[in-house]
Amino acid sequence: MSTDTLTTEAKRENAAMLAAALGIGLEAAGEALQFDVAITADPTDATATAIATDLASLLRRTIRSANLGEPGEAVVLEILIGDAGAKTDRRSLRIQVGSEGAVIGGEPARERCAGIPRVLCLLVACYAAAATMQTVFQDRLPFEGSSPLRVSFDQLGIEPTVFEAPVDIGHAYLAGAGAIGNGFLWAARHLDFRGSLDIDDDDDVSSGNLNRQIWFTKDDIGLPKADRLASLAQGSFPRLKLTPRKLRLQDLPEKSNGPWLERLFVAVDSRRARRIIQREFPGEVFDASTTDIREVVIHHHKQPTLQACLSCIYEADQEEFTREHHIAEHLGVSVDEVRLERISGSAAEKIAARIPNLKASALVGIAYDTLFKQLCGEGTLQSLEGRRIVAPFAFVSVLAGTLLALEVLRRRGAKRGEARFNYWRVSPWHPPLGRRRVLRPRQPRCEFCGNRVFKAVNDTLWGGEPERERE
Ligand SMILES: [Zn+2]
Repeated sequence: MSTDTLTTEAKRENAAMLAAALGIGLEAAGEALQFDVAITADPTDATATAIATDLASLLRRTIRSANLGEPGEAVVLEILIGDAGAKTDRRSLRIQVGSEGAVIGGEPARERCAGIPRVLCLLVACYAAAATMQTVFQDRLPFEGSSPLRVSFDQLGIEPTVFEAPVDIGHAYLAGAGAIGNGFLWAARHLDFRGSLDIDDDDDVSSGNLNRQIWFTKDDIGLPKADRLASLAQGSFPRLKLTPRKLRLQDLPEKSNGPWLERLFVAVDSRRARRIIQREFPGEVFDASTTDIREVVIHHHKQPTLQACLSCIYEADQEEFTREHHIAEHLGVSVDEVRLERISGSAAEKIAARIPNLKASALVGIAYDTLFKQLCGEGTLQSLEGRRIVAPFAFVSVLAGTLLALEVLRRRGAKRGEARFNYWRVSPWHPPLGRRRVLRPRQPRCEFCGNRVFKAVNDTLWGGEPERERE
């Protein structure tokens, strides 16, 4: 199967990501992604076939084709999983899975894979996708990946028995039905989540989303993301009711002065959006974010806490400041307008006056970042080479969503007295390391924690500061 599942716009998003990573032009990057891989697994090995299926789904969002059947002539790399013999004479990348972990690359033993929880097959597939890109692009990538890449499952801090256990999330909200929100439910379908989840997103699926929003296909373009995600995923969640809400979290009608937002999963697409969400006074937050293809961040906090909130973790930084100014300058609007995140009617008029071939009526309500990315993809804003916002490859967003789902599982199964942390940085190109989990303190200049009024409201809603942290 070729990546005909991808639209021209989605291919451009991938090309823009690779162009930024390799420091090459958009056209060359687009061509560099036009390669085929073959994935060969022993059909009687359930772990190997699950990894093969997930890996193919991830790679098809990025490269021209990932072939599970007979490899075609154009294959440049054959990925061999478990005890599978090569079908081609091309370069190969072998994956071996034992009960303790996976080895991707190098020369692992050729043997049958161990039986592991299904969600870990997806985790291995995410790393295998990174290793595939690493094998193809090698030192052209701006960072060195681990080879072989050894993923030790104990680094996740999850007891093996917990994978099967029910996870009651009560009534929770998911903010954002984009790349990470998609990845979260794509992973969580392999766990026994129960309760109800409201999916909040006011945006529609666009053709430039298909490179990374793993549940969506061409059939979903133009339809509301929240509706489509709930509808596509519901069948995989017999005990979790998914309710689409075509609204942003901050616009929900049930918002009240009481503790209405007890548990929240955060999968929005910007630092500013996370700070805005913090002002809704969430009780417990599970958050995942990506920094292009370099890094995934997992954050958790539960009120009352003396430690970092979302706004502490995602403080306004220089990069955000610079980007907002560039977007404002190039679209011909003010920085304050850009900070509203969505294009208003009056801003749409100004943008249409500045940029040829854009109609004001078609711009109203679109996110500035989305429009800006489209313009970068079309080469309209060439002067911003290197500074543009780029969307990560599918496997990076899905890795973020998978680690988010695993974090929910881990916290539900965590024993008392376990090491406390609220922040975990994970690289898609290196094994996940438990020791990189840290406890980040409150930031003295945090726009939420440092605000007396917000703090007083927060204390009223969730209780005052604890003498000792609960978790
Ligand atoms: Zn804070």
